[in-house]
Amino acid sequence: MEQRDVIVIGGGIAGLSFAWHATRAGQRALVLEATPRPGGCLDSRRVGAGSAAYWYELGAHTCYNSYQALLEIADATGLGALIRPRGEARKRFALLRDGRLTTMGPLSVFRQFSWWQLAGSLLRALFSRKRPGLTTRAHFSRLVGADNYQRVLAPFLSAVPSQAVDDFPASGAGSLFKKRTRRKDVIKTFSFDGGLGAVVDKLAGLVETRTGAVVSALRPRADGDGGGYQVELADGTALGARAVALAVGPATATRLLAPAFPALAAPLGRIATVDVDSVGVVVARSAVALPELAFIVPAADIFWSAVTRDPLPDPTRRAFAFHFRPGHSQDERLACITRVLGVPADALEVVHTRSTTLPSPTLGHDAVVAELDRGLAGTRLALTGNYFAGLAIEDCVARSKAEWTRVATTT
Ligand SMILES: Cc1cc2nc3c(=O)[nH]c(=O)nc-3n(C[C@H](O)[C@H](O)[C@H](O)COP(=O)(O)OP(=O)(O)OC[C@H]3O[C@@H](n4cnc5c(N)ncnc54)[C@H](O)[C@@H]3O)c2cc1C
Repeated sequence: MEQRDVIVIGGGIAGLSFAWHATRAGQRALVLEATPRPGGCLDSRRVGAGSAAYWYELGAHTCYNSYQALLEIADATGLGALIRPRGEARKRFALLRDGRLTTMGPLSVFRQFSWWQLAGSLLRALFSRKRPGLTTRAHFSRLVGADNYQRVLAPFLSAVPSQAVDDFPASGAGSLFKKRTRRKDVIKTFSFDGGLGAVVDKLAGLVETRTGAVVSALRPRADGDGGGYQVELADGTALGARAVALAVGPATATRLLAPAFPALAAPLGRIATVDVDSVGVVVARSAVALPELAFIVPAADIFWSAVTRDPLPDPTRRAFAFHFRPGHSQDERLACITRVLGVPADALEVVHTRSTTLPSPTLGHDAVVAELDRGLAGTRLALTGNYFAGLAIEDCVARSKAEWTRVATTT
């Protein structure tokens, strides 16, 4: 049986960063990734070659100088030299309401509010006791008014995780908002030369990564067989390791853990998930009349958001990644894209698709995470990913670092 010190299941940013910490600590770590491409939600699509080369993000797109765990890796690996600031277009976006696109900046969002409702709600909030444990909808409805929340804030907030955020916890694990300390020596919002795929390429080059490796089972090994864990692939290959990190979504982790680790599978199974269908298109710059902007948010439509590459502009092309609600056909999605961009179907020079399953945290997520951490204590089994503190890249990388530290010090 193949043997490693550490096996990491899942080659997204959570798995790659966990494996990077293990490798840096001198461990023989192997990442097993089911698809032909590592990176998971970090999915920079490359088009053309040489001077015609172009890239855009079909998944995650933006990092911030508060991403300290990611920046630690960037500093240590030379990735820091590839950091590229996001340009002026990052400050503009468009709201699509009743078929009309209105371009705006961050402050114009407030102009969409009913001021009477805002003033009344703020006054009431000021004189009433702050209540912990609220949903995002309850928290913001209390601050800005229920109608202001539903009509103005909810579409913008839901555009961030490509799903309805009404039932997300307003604070604590799983919430959209976190206080993070910024690194003053790093530009506030950035990507990398070649997109976030540069992070994937760098890490996958530094840690042993096997693609097309679908993990189908995980079990503890008896001490007589060397202890640790046994990982089985769908093709029947078995591998052994002293430590294993599961860096897959909660549904897959539940399925892999249920037979041998039911106490971990039970809380994991309580984390809901949603599907997001993304379609990315590349068009000639001259084909689209839209001003340069970072994203488009619909008040009500079949998509949650459309993210552009305009903050890192290209002289000849533009790209748009539309993130759709589930249940629509590709024809419906393409019709939506051409309608919003105001272009004919043959203007779409490149079309890419991807499907993502994202966690959907609800009230009580703190307790789920605490239960998982209690179940993991004292083991060399690690759980990491975007269903602990939150969905952001930094939440994944910080969790991986903390989990590696715990596993490395567990005897
Ligand atoms: C459209 C979109 C835009 C986003 N934008 C941003 C952003 O701008 N900034 C930000 O900070 N965050 C953003 N996020 C969130 C962030 O990108 C993700 O939450 C994060 O990248 C998830 O990383 P992960 O490693 O936990 O999971 P994933 O990226 O989902 O990786 C899990 C990996 O496990 C693999 N896998 C699954 N099952 C198995 C198996 N049985 N065996 C082996 N491998 C398996 C999968 O193929 C996948 O590669 C965005 C997310 C999406 C979807």
